[in-house]
Amino acid sequence: MNCDLCGKEVKKAYRVKIDETILDVCEECKAYADEVLGIVEEKEVKKPKMKKPIKEEIFEELEIVEEYGKLIKEKRMEMGLDITEFSRILNEKESVIKRIEEEKMIPNEELAKKIERLLGITLFRKVEKKFIDHGSKDVELTIGDVTELKS
Ligand SMILES: [Zn+2]
Repeated sequence: MNCDLCGKEVKKAYRVKIDETILDVCEECKAYADEVLGIVEEKEVKKPKMKKPIKEEIFEELEIVEEYGKLIKEKRMEMGLDITEFSRILNEKESVIKRIEEEKMIPNEELAKKIERLLGITLFRKVEKKFIDHGSKDVELTIGDVTELKS
């Protein structure tokens, strides 16, 4: 902050009354004050420090392919299977298959494997991800910490 009278930069100012005006002034200008009301201390502004990542890890994760529902539906229709038949073969509820085809649900591994085998498609792909541990107390894998690497 700066002294309201001389403009000098100060860490600590005196809140004073001069001619019925309240001002924050420096030590020297305090002499002109009619009355000292108190001390104003500048709050230290903490700059956010850039944390160095403590650990970086690259790991592989299985990710469902884009438009998996569309892919399943197309392949199923290519094979001339209606959803009822398809569900029966997979030993799965029709509603579940519908939700998967609508991409409202991701099939679990077991079901995905059955679908993959039956339709000859790949539903999951391996992606390399980078996990950066900033050394914070609660290390959580957040979207911000996971960067998908270009393969
Ligand atoms: Zn001053």
